[in-house]
Formats: sequence, C-alpha cells, structure tokens
Amino acid sequence: MTKGIRAIRGFRDIPPEEAWKLSYIEDRTQEHFQRYGYREIRLPMVEFTELFARGIGEATDIVEKEMYTFLDRNGQSLSLRPEGTASAVRAYIEGGWKSQHGITKVYYSGPMFRYERPQKGRYRQFYQLGLEAIGGAGPLVDAEVIDLLHRLFLVVEVQDVRILVNSLGCGKCRPDFRVRLLEYLTGVARELCSNCRRRMESNPLRVLDCKVPGCRSALEKVPVMLDYLCAECEDHFSAVREALDGLEVPYNVDPRIVRGLDYYNRTAFEAVCDRLGSQNAVAAGGRYDGLAKEIGGDAPGIGFAMGLERLGLIMNWDDVVPENPDYYVAAATSSARIPALELGDRLRALGFSVEVDLEDRSLKAQLRSANRMGIDSVLILGDDELSGGTVTLKDFVEKIQREVPLEEFMKEVMAAGTGPERR
Ligand code: ATP
Ligand code: MG
Repeated sequence: MTKGIRAIRGFRDIPPEEAWKLSYIEDRTQEHFQRYGYREIRLPMVEFTELFARGIGEATDIVEKEMYTFLDRNGQSLSLRPEGTASAVRAYIEGGWKSQHGITKVYYSGPMFRYERPQKGRYRQFYQLGLEAIGGAGPLVDAEVIDLLHRLFLVVEVQDVRILVNSLGCGKCRPDFRVRLLEYLTGVARELCSNCRRRMESNPLRVLDCKVPGCRSALEKVPVMLDYLCAECEDHFSAVREALDGLEVPYNVDPRIVRGLDYYNRTAFEAVCDRLGSQNAVAAGGRYDGLAKEIGGDAPGIGFAMGLERLGLIMNWDDVVPENPDYYVAAATSSARIPALELGDRLRALGFSVEVDLEDRSLKAQLRSANRMGIDSVLILGDDELSGGTVTLKDFVEKIQREVPLEEFMKEVMAAGTGPERR
C-alpha cells in the first residue's frame, strides 16, 4: 500500500463542525464593520518579500523568523502573507485611492501564514479579520476604531475581553525615550534573555513585550513612553481617551503595549482575554502613520487584526445552534424516487434547505436519517400519494402524521413566507 499523505504541521483541516463557526464569526463581524462604513477588500495571498521586510520591519519576529519565503520560477523572492496591513497600504498607494476618498475604510478576511511553533490558538496557517482606516490622522479615527472593536465583542456576546491602549509617541518624541530606554536596558542587560540582548540593538521597544519571566522582573522599573510624549502626542492621546470615555468604552491604559516597529506611532491597542492563557491576544492594532512612506507613498493610517480561531475559542457556542435542514423528503416506493427529488427542488426554490435520500434506502432508514440530522419535518411520497396528488407530512416534534393535497401544502408553505433566512 502507498504511504498516506498527511497535512503539513501547523496547517489544519477545519472540518464542517468547526468551519461553520468561523463563517458565523466572519458574517457577524463583516456586518458589524459595514455598519461603520468599512468595505471589503480582497488582497493577494503572496507578495514580494520586500513589501513585508520594509512594511513590517526587518527587526521583527515575523520578518526575522516567521515568514514562508521562497523563490518563484523567475528567481524573485516572494512570501506568503503573514498579515494584511502592508498589503492594504500597498493597494491604497498602487490604486491611487487617496484622491478618491477622504478616509479609505477597508476590511479583509482570510488566511495568514507564519512559521511558528504550533499550539493551542497558534497555527502556521490561521485566519484573520482586519480593518484599516487609511488617510485620517485625527484622534476620532482611533477612537472609532477602538469603539468598533469593543462593540464587536458585544455583538458576539463575549463579555470578558479587556481593551488595553497605549501611545507609542512619534518620530519627534520617541528618539529621546529610546535613549532613556537603552540606558536602562544596558543597566539590566545581564538579567535579560539572549533574544532581548540582541533586540536591544535592533529594536529595543520590543524588549518591553518579552514574556520571559526573568525579563519581566528586570523591567519592573523600566521607563515608559507615556512619560516622554511630546505635546502633540500627549494631545492626541488625551483626545482619544476623551472620546472613548464619552462613548463609554471600557479600557485600560497599559504602557507595556508596543508594536515594536518604527513606523507604528501614537495609539496602539490590544484586546485580550485571560481565558486564552499565554496566547491571550484576540486582536491587536495601532496607528501607522509612517508605514506608507516605507513603501513609496504617504498617508496616515490605523487598523487592527483579529484572530478568528482565538475568537472562536472564547465564544459561547451553546446558544448559537448550527441550522439543520428544514425538510427531509422520503420516498416510500421506488417510483417515488424522482418525484421526491423534484419536491426537494421546489422547496429549495422557496429558500428551504432539504435533504432527499440518494441511496435507495427503506422508508424506515430514511426516517432514521432525518432524525439523526435533526430534521423535524419529513414529507413522504409513495404510490398512494403519487396517484392521489398528496403528500404525507410527518412532524417529529408535534408527533403528528397527516396526508394533505400536495398543492395545498405548497400554498401553505408559500403563505408562511419563504424559507427561514439562511446564511
Ligand atoms: P502573538 O503575541 O500572539 O504572537 P502577534 O502580536 O504576533 O500575536 P498580530 O500580528 O498582532 O499578533 O496578529 C493579530 C492577531 O492575530 C493576534 O491577536 C491573534 O489573535 C492572531 N494571531 C497571530 N498569530 C497567530 C497564529 N500563529 N495563530 C493563530 N492566531 C494568530
Ligand atoms: Mg506573533
């Protein structure tokens, strides 16, 4: 026998029992985003490696060690996208959208790829839903994006997500802070992990984010950006907070939230849920006024990305039942096989979802299947029904069975409205 082929490590099959949950999240989230004027954008899954190297930054985990990079047949270096922001901003610049709209609001949904150690809530192919508001620099844009994120958790009824916000300053105030930070880090360098010691040179802000306990304790008294904001950044941050307070968005200021990349500036935020354990971030985002310049344009922007699987892990699915088919059409005799298929089609044309036996099984077996599929209403066609122009209705819930003229039944069904609204 040939050796079986398995899926690649970190790349999962998402079976129907789980896929509907991801679709449910996508649907609710997209409706929510659209209420704020965001429109869907579909972006390529593969880009020039350089886009991510410049757009995400060389000194980040993603670019340093998490990208799926390969040469195509022309010898060009391409990468599977590890995130969506760089592509969205590239599309904004390349499409010349600046002149078309005031603030361009777009959202995307789809798989992202990162070479990480697979574990619960961390995969090599995972799904993100994200949005970007490009072209607006004012604090109300930040406030609306954070408000939208907060209200998304209300829509999907997750109560225990906390929103953390911070300000990362700007090109004017951060250099001074960076000097102070480096001074402090140099003082505690011996207590830091080897990764952080290396990071001190290339990307010292990222050290603030290290989860290693030794680093955590060494950083207890570390200076924070919030104490070094310039007047403009200070004003921006207080305006964001004032708007969030006005909108009654609960949040905490957490000076340890960093994005670690030079072009990220001012507002940074995360949505975290403690039930997720060490992978506690459900969504993360921030302002990136310098990103467009890195890739040949110029526009301020802010956005966030949310991990679909992680939201799926913290949602309560008990009350969200997947929809079962509405009807099962059973054929009692072999001459009723094709009429049963036909009746199925007529009901589907009205918007119902219908199962019909395709395996020439006995009536008893068909009823058993209907039951197993959670279908309450079975329509039975047999020789008597065919010759009399009737159908026998069997309702498992109301435990009744009656024979009615088929056309009367169809009229009843139509009068009751089309099928239930389906996804
Ligand atoms: P983490 O700290 O968990 O590594 P990150 O900072 O790398 O997260 P972002 O790049 O900000 O994450 O991505 C936004 C969201 O995408 C995360 O909050 C998380 O929900 C999700 N996410 C990121 N990486 C993965 C992954 N490998 N598998 C599943 N979800 C992920
Ligand atoms: Mg990561």
